Amino acid sequence: MSSYHVVIIGGGATGSALAHDLALRGIRVTLVERGEVTSGTTGRHHGLLHSGARYAVKDQESAKECIQENMILRKIAPGSFELNDGLFVAITEEDLAYYDDFMEGCAVCGIPTRTLSREEALRLEPNLNPEVKLAVQVPDGTMDAMRLPLRFLATAKHNGAVIKPYTEVLSFLMEGQTVTGVHVRDHTSGKEYDIGADIVVNAAGPWAEKIARMAGVDVPVQPSPGVLVAVWGRYNNMVINRLHRSGDGDIVVPQRELSIIGTSSWVVDDPDKLDVPEEHIRLMYEKGAEMIPALKHAKMRAAWSAARPLIGSRGATTGRELSRTFKCFDHADEGVEGFVTITGGKATTARAMAETTADVVVRKLGLDIPCRTREVVLLPHTAYYTQ
Ligand SMILES: Cc1cc2nc3c(=O)[nH]c(=O)nc-3n(C[C@H](O)[C@H](O)[C@H](O)COP(=O)(O)OP(=O)(O)OC[C@H]3O[C@@H](n4cnc5c(N)ncnc54)[C@H](O)[C@@H]3O)c2cc1C
Repeated sequence: MSSYHVVIIGGGATGSALAHDLALRGIRVTLVERGEVTSGTTGRHHGLLHSGARYAVKDQESAKECIQENMILRKIAPGSFELNDGLFVAITEEDLAYYDDFMEGCAVCGIPTRTLSREEALRLEPNLNPEVKLAVQVPDGTMDAMRLPLRFLATAKHNGAVIKPYTEVLSFLMEGQTVTGVHVRDHTSGKEYDIGADIVVNAAGPWAEKIARMAGVDVPVQPSPGVLVAVWGRYNNMVINRLHRSGDGDIVVPQRELSIIGTSSWVVDDPDKLDVPEEHIRLMYEKGAEMIPALKHAKMRAAWSAARPLIGSRGATTGRELSRTFKCFDHADEGVEGFVTITGGKATTARAMAETTADVVVRKLGLDIPCRTREVVLLPHTAYYTQ
């Protein structure tokens, strides 16, 4: 193992995938997470392994990232997904009018599609609105939002990474304009202490801006929450999406014995202050029922919100106008050495985000070690607890 030490802030999908990538390259890694791992946005997302089709018209960079990563994750995390595919359903004439752009976008992004007639769609998904005009099948899937990151963390631990949940970064250690580590509080003991590092990586999702500010730099992150509603019962076995430009309540993900309807989108300043507006819950029921009418009377299991870490300066209106792609910032560009931020993206693209970031980190350390995470099969999530 190299003597270089990297501290990662944030134990969500991104930080977990990064801990795995760096540990695999032989770098000494410590990951600190202020709560339980995956307790940020990651543990609260839809559980949709994106094919990228949702972004194929308006956000093709993200769509291409999704389909590439979707295929890689199937290989490196077997058993973590329900390979149920997704259907984009046209319910109205307006939806139908979107079909050509959608098909063209999917073709450009390399997303396989199969168009189904109304009858075929209803045979596969009998609870669909009988008004459905046609459907397009794509390689979406269902994932467990927590178990995939646990597999990254389990494998990282196996390769020597140290994972510290309930450890919050309070400030940065600096020598002049160089970050040399972090000052943390262990919330289980109440003790505060320093952790030295050659490089600190900010993988704090929607909190990335707040963390960057502690080191005196700005990153353009717009926290953009959405509401999700889980109802009892599986109303569909494939992921059902509305065939139209991304909007509210136009995805239903079957997840264990639940169906999860999502989502809405707005913007906030502080990702710690999220509410779950009643009218958004109503909207999820209403919009979900346009695709699957029986959802209208489905019994609610839970409703919650989580904030997307979208790249963009403040001033967005709903967050839907911002791309779902990701960006890695080497803060040496703003005069602060030893500090890197990775943000944006999707849980589906966490491995690619980690690869890009780890490439920056090893280059900064003067090393030349290639990424191996496209091939290495991850340990099972249970290994996170048993090692
Ligand atoms: C409503 C909604 C639905 C979504 N659905 C999907 C989906 O179906 N599929 C998909 O692929 N993506 C989905 N996404 C996007 C996806 O959830 C996020 O892109 C991804 O989870 C972000 O992961 P992250 O690790 O970057 O951030 P996070 O998971 O938020 O991790 C950052 C971590 O940093 C920690 N942290 C913050 N401050 C500190 C500190 N001072 N010290 C230590 N730790 C700190 C936080 O506690 C947090 O755990 C959805 C997002 C939303 C909001």
